[in-house]
Amino acid sequence: MNNLLPGLKRFSEHVFPQQQKLFESLSQGQKPHTLLITCSDSRIDPNLVTQTNPGELFVVRNAGNIVPPFGASKGGEEAAIEFAVDGLGVSNIVICGHSHCGAMAALTGKVNLDSLPSVKNWLRHAQSTKKRMETKSHAFELHDVVEENVLVQVENVKTHPSVSASLSLGRTRIFAWVYSFETGSIAVYDPKLKRYLPSIEVREESEKDVSRFAL
Ligand SMILES: [Zn+2]
Repeated sequence: MNNLLPGLKRFSEHVFPQQQKLFESLSQGQKPHTLLITCSDSRIDPNLVTQTNPGELFVVRNAGNIVPPFGASKGGEEAAIEFAVDGLGVSNIVICGHSHCGAMAALTGKVNLDSLPSVKNWLRHAQSTKKRMETKSHAFELHDVVEENVLVQVENVKTHPSVSASLSLGRTRIFAWVYSFETGSIAVYDPKLKRYLPSIEVREESEKDVSRFAL
């Protein structure tokens, strides 16, 4: 807390005045363009890595950027997704995993969860990821699990009625990202090539047509 209080003071006295008009306009309501579902990991700063302002991203975070299939969980993800899609009308849904994800390490048995029963219970929503990895004929690394898990969660989010309806009407697009905080790069999944493209290739391709990355 000793570290936080000076930050609060610095924000209200120095940062807020520089963007006062933006914050005042946000008091009229929010119109985020993107629902970003990512991990709770402290090394991810959504607004920083996407270079967006307050009001642009509606963010859902949990351990492992997991989206339980519709009806499978009593958590808040269902309500948040419905509100973002039907209530706020976001036009993009991004599932973003990240390098060195502890939740994914735990999923593959690399972390002992005996003293973390709630985490163990939560990760059952990612069992499909584990099963998919076990069917691979080649050895895999943690980063492979992270990448696969994002694709599994993309399938899960499509089971939510608000999302499936919005997709069928062409109002929403879904994207799969993996952020590597140690390099500052975000890889984007290309459904045609069936692989993640590094940032540099994504920039070149997205100038032509960003919809090629929609899932
Ligand atoms: Zn994580």
